[in-house]
Amino acid sequence: MNPPEELISYIKDHDKFYIVPHMFPDGDALGSALALESALCGIGKKAIVFSRDPVPDMFDFLPEALRIAPISDLTSTEDATLVLVDCNAPNRAEIDRVKFKYTIVIDHHETESDFGNIRWVVPKSPATGLMVYFLIKALGIEISPAMALNIYTALSVDTGTFRYSNTTAESLAVASELVLKGVRPSFVADRLYNSWTEARFMLLKHMLYSLEIHNNTAICFITNDMLKKTGAKPEDTENFVNFPIMINSIKVAALFKETGKDFWKASLRSRGDVNVAKIAEKLGGGGHKNAAGFRINGDIETSKKTLLESLDGIGESSGGD
Ligand code: 5GP
Ligand code: MN
Repeated sequence: MNPPEELISYIKDHDKFYIVPHMFPDGDALGSALALESALCGIGKKAIVFSRDPVPDMFDFLPEALRIAPISDLTSTEDATLVLVDCNAPNRAEIDRVKFKYTIVIDHHETESDFGNIRWVVPKSPATGLMVYFLIKALGIEISPAMALNIYTALSVDTGTFRYSNTTAESLAVASELVLKGVRPSFVADRLYNSWTEARFMLLKHMLYSLEIHNNTAICFITNDMLKKTGAKPEDTENFVNFPIMINSIKVAALFKETGKDFWKASLRSRGDVNVAKIAEKLGGGGHKNAAGFRINGDIETSKKTLLESLDGIGESSGGD
């Protein structure tokens, strides 16, 4: 994968970069942003990561994660260039209110906006972290152990640790390079998959209890009341939508997470050729073919119905219980 020449020479010629991941950042968004930050700082540039949301506890092992600044600190952009990572529109990072003279997008999402003076969007890339790896190499910067851990985690999170269909020979080859730089795959896997709090596990129990199956579609929900009862945090729901997609007859899994009274963030997952990015886009969201999301306003029953109606025509996935 070759980063555009225009991007490489722009970075070489400029000194100040504000790197911004999408809101509710996941391991790919954070790992990509942090690896790029240390690479740029390492060659004498000023680079700062700003995030709308704090780093979830599960990612606090990422090198330099505690240095991430809140977006409220971003008051003056002066001569800084914005680098949006793992998203391609400023509203995905809630940074629309801040004006920049020059903007760069590094992303792998299928749904496109036309934002960015330099846009490097590669939907085929399994993770933004993989793109950042090739960018750092193209800039002639040596991958440090800290960058390696950030990139390996980014790649791990977006490929389900090399289990999803987006896992490529290239990503495995890069993972091997990163292991040679000191990453311990068992350490990352342990942090990502075997470090649950009891509260998170109890929340999963509640979510599983909400499961409904409509032909080939599984729908679950998590309310704020469930969070309160279990003491779990909103970010504890990360990956929960991957539980119902384990059922072999399920083609689409949806998880509605309450964000306010009658406001929901829905996560969608699908198998094979079922494209949930298209469904999410129809409902005002976006994402990838097999992993997408959208926001919806309405009570839970109406929201579920809207989704099932949008799925009509995809396999046999609409209909009753
Ligand atoms: P998740 O379900 O893990 O939150 O998101 C799955 C994928 O869909 C991620 O790549 C995420 O960036 C994308 N996604 C989730 N929600 C939205 C949304 O509301 N708008 C857009 N454009 N993408 C979303
Ligand atoms: Mn990603």
